Amino acid sequence: MVQLGTLLAVLFPVSSAFVFPSAPVLSSSLCSRTRSSGALSMQYGALQDKPLKVIIAGGGIGGLVLANALQRHGITYDLYEKTKEYRPFGGPIQVQSNALAALEAINKDMTQRIMDAGTTTGNRVNGLKDGMTNKWYCQFDTGAPAQKRGLPLTRVVDRPDLQNILLDYIDQSRLHTGVEVSEYSQMADGSVEVVLTNGEKVQGDVLVGADGIWSNIRGQMHKESPGKESATYSGYTCFTGVCMARPADVKEVAYKVYLAAGKYFVCSDVGKGRMQWYAMLGQPAGEKVPDGVQGAHLVKEYQGWSREVLELLEITKEEDINQRDLYDRPPLLVKGWAKGPVAVLGDAAHPMMPNLGQGGCQAVEDGYRLAQELSKITDRGDVAWALRMYEQQRLVRSSAVHGLARIASDVLFQSKLLFTNPVIGKFVGLMMTISMPLILEFLYQNVLDESDWGSARGRLSNMAAYEDQSNTYKSVREAQAALAAKETVAV
Ligand SMILES: Cc1cc2nc3c(=O)[nH]c(=O)nc-3n(C[C@H](O)[C@H](O)[C@H](O)COP(=O)(O)OP(=O)(O)OC[C@H]3O[C@@H](n4cnc5c(N)ncnc54)[C@H](O)[C@@H]3O)c2cc1C
Repeated sequence: MVQLGTLLAVLFPVSSAFVFPSAPVLSSSLCSRTRSSGALSMQYGALQDKPLKVIIAGGGIGGLVLANALQRHGITYDLYEKTKEYRPFGGPIQVQSNALAALEAINKDMTQRIMDAGTTTGNRVNGLKDGMTNKWYCQFDTGAPAQKRGLPLTRVVDRPDLQNILLDYIDQSRLHTGVEVSEYSQMADGSVEVVLTNGEKVQGDVLVGADGIWSNIRGQMHKESPGKESATYSGYTCFTGVCMARPADVKEVAYKVYLAAGKYFVCSDVGKGRMQWYAMLGQPAGEKVPDGVQGAHLVKEYQGWSREVLELLEITKEEDINQRDLYDRPPLLVKGWAKGPVAVLGDAAHPMMPNLGQGGCQAVEDGYRLAQELSKITDRGDVAWALRMYEQQRLVRSSAVHGLARIASDVLFQSKLLFTNPVIGKFVGLMMTISMPLILEFLYQNVLDESDWGSARGRLSNMAAYEDQSNTYKSVREAQAALAAKETVAV
């Protein structure tokens, strides 16, 4: 019954966050935070004399979005990225409607390019299937809640494309690659100084740690080890692969999650005739399958599974398969995301399981929100207050998403019963059918400031022209009906 209890718990955080999307934050430290223009601002100065300068540690999705968002408001930044060169790395990533809304508010042209580079999945069926019988547990409509609000439909975009487009729009003279931020100190006047690995020291008004799950900045802020000992292993290792394939249902179905005890398998259409898959195996951390035999290992692991799964594994080239263990860290509900002039963002603040495809999307929301809050202040003495406002608006929301992704992973890991007892399987399908629309409603609202919702509302009247769907279905309902007809014929 542990499993049932956990499943029911899925509904609780969603509904509470749904009903109280901007509810007061749980952290007691947050409750006592107030604006502090006073003695400090007298020493430190108003922004009209000298614009605010933000130091960004890390140029992944979160850091690059933040740079673009600061630029929108004329806030100066310097971005330090430890890798020397941006190289094509990583497979496609889901950029969901909430993230696209925030990106669009930051820069419309940039977002149009991201959308053009992607493959729309929000107008097709997504859902969960039994890995063995291939029968659907439940299907989701991710399009309707987005369309209702005038938000762009979810896309899958290749990471290098997304990265290059984000890079194209930032001030190149402010990008410093091959430089790591190793530590920081808060100065007496309220500013912050960072030490770079090349020995240089740089001062700014704000430091943002966008340096990923193994964040140095978070480590120093909370006296936490940035290493694996302070992270939580999910119980799963994840193999990813991309292959050339067009499944029979690709016109109607975008992503499918195949479930069975101890492992699961996710696949998605990622455009250009390709399918991406994730094979999640429950096993202890650190058990690396040698390169060159990973495909064969997976084919063996998934023996007896649906042919839809095995076909993808069989045709994927060895060199297109990667393995990594999945970790997250508990949400910083009590410790918080900001201290003085320093804040964390993206995976540095909330590394989460990939089950909802929201880690990067939440990093995008962070970047949007942080820049919004900094743009509202007129005095350096209010920097810490702006960072608290950022934290207050983002922490509960992202923690709810983080919690849901973790619960989804834990349920799958623990619940043998789910897959051996058909009644429980049906119950879970029903719960997911009920809870998923609530989760999506929650995700797609309260993303933007009121002033930025204008373009989304404008688009509502022109959705057909905006989303070119000449090639495919206008809604998930249409896709669902076509899929049902196709599956009936196949039977
Ligand atoms: C299997 C899998 C699938 C996923 N699928 C999705 C999906 O479909 N949709 C989605 O939204 N999310 C997805 N995610 C999550 C997503 O990849 C991350 O949440 C996202 O990349 C986080 O971005 P970030 O910028 O915060 O961190 P990162 O991408 O980790 O970037 C951090 C950057 O900081 C640099 N850096 C580190 N330390 C320093 C330092 N000290 N100084 C300077 N630079 C530094 C690093 O080199 C790196 O470039 C997935 C994750 C996994 C594991």
